[in-house]
Amino acid sequence: MFFIDQSLCTQCGECSSNCPFESISEHEDGSFVIDAKICTDCGECQLNCPFDAIIEKEENKESA
Ligand code: SF4
Ligand code: SF4
Repeated sequence: MFFIDQSLCTQCGECSSNCPFESISEHEDGSFVIDAKICTDCGECQLNCPFDAIIEKEENKESA
C-alpha cells in the first residue's frame, strides 16, 4: 500500500492529478490523502511526486 508522508509533502497536488483512479483527495486543511479503498497500488503517484513524499509500505496484518 502507498501512503503520503505529510512531513515531506508540499501539498503541490501532482499526485492527485496523476492518479488514474482518482483515489487521492485534498482535505479541508490542504493535506492530500490516499483512499486505500480506491487505490489499486499502481504506483503512479509515487513516480509523479517531485518530493518523494509517497512511501510504499508492505501490508501489515498485525497493525491497522
Ligand atoms: S498507487 Fe495508483 S491508485 Fe493508488 S493513489 Fe497512487 S496513483 Fe492512485
Ligand atoms: S505529489 Fe507529493 S508533494 Fe505533491 S501533493 Fe502529492 S504527495 Fe504531496
